[in-house]
Amino acid sequence: MKKIGVLTSGGDSPGMNAAVRAVVRKAIFHEMEVYGVYNGYQGLMEGNIKRMELGSVGDIIQRGGTILYSARSEEFKTEEGQQKAIEQLNKFGIEGLIVIGGDGSFRGAEKLTQKGYPCIGVPGTIDNDIPGTDFTIGFDTALNTVIDAIDKIRDTATSHERTYVVEVMGRNAGDLALWAGLADGAETILIPEQPDDFDSVVRKLKRGHDRGKKHSIIILAEGVGNGFAYGKRIEEATDMETRVTILGHIQRGGSPTGFDRVLASRLGAKAVDLLLDGKAGRVVGIQNNKLVDHDIVQILTQPHKIDLDMYKLSNELSI
Ligand code: ADP
Repeated sequence: MKKIGVLTSGGDSPGMNAAVRAVVRKAIFHEMEVYGVYNGYQGLMEGNIKRMELGSVGDIIQRGGTILYSARSEEFKTEEGQQKAIEQLNKFGIEGLIVIGGDGSFRGAEKLTQKGYPCIGVPGTIDNDIPGTDFTIGFDTALNTVIDAIDKIRDTATSHERTYVVEVMGRNAGDLALWAGLADGAETILIPEQPDDFDSVVRKLKRGHDRGKKHSIIILAEGVGNGFAYGKRIEEATDMETRVTILGHIQRGGSPTGFDRVLASRLGAKAVDLLLDGKAGRVVGIQNNKLVDHDIVQILTQPHKIDLDMYKLSNELSI
């Protein structure tokens, strides 16, 4: 394989740039030509593709977002859209494509692989919802952003005796809420993977209040429901003043943590190695600090699992 392409797609995450850098540098190290595809699959269909050199990825390892930009494309989901993408890949002579993104992006990569274009998926999402890897690129940075925000909320929460509901991202996964809740000592963590027992949440809040607790923090994963609606229910059921904060897109931005930069560098380079080895339709990951790769179909059909021991621990530590 002599010419490869790289694109970022779907929701962006901090560390995608470090992954793009690793792909470009590793490919050049192995004397391959490497092409950056701008604006995800939309740009692929439109031929928004440029040759990348060593300098194209200089000074980006520390930057959030993605220099290749990201996009969502409905057209690419159609047969015609995928044909257009293949025509462009042929035009540029690109023999393999590395797709940095989440599960939606991997569905696209799987379609191209089926049509004869070897694709490798690199998990880049703050949601940590990709099976086959302990961590996705961006999760650690987002986690630290959430922790920083909740630390600040905690200061004001102590000054006024209040209950705080903090809604965090994660789509259908509760990882960000669970990790942030454990790291922040939240009283209650609500995640989609575990059924919400509203009465026990209320009982716990009242018990804490009676014991003289100055404040309570409830972390709500967005997959469970809307923070404002939940806050209203809590206020009505407890008669305690309740405030709601929806952290929103600040969780997607910022300079990637050291962990995410290293993870992105390792996973990006591993993806290039797989293409060099003639592999196709694989998703790279890290498990027990070892680089791994799995069949993309298997990754797309497996459900995401939460660490139930960690959930149990968070309950034990927040009695
Ligand atoms: P993420 O990769 O973060 O999960 P999306 O779900 O929005 O983000 O997917 C990103 C893009 O991947 C979509 O806009 C679309 O172009 C492509 N994609 C998603 N699902 C499919 C599919 N079933 N077939 C082909 N392409 C898809």
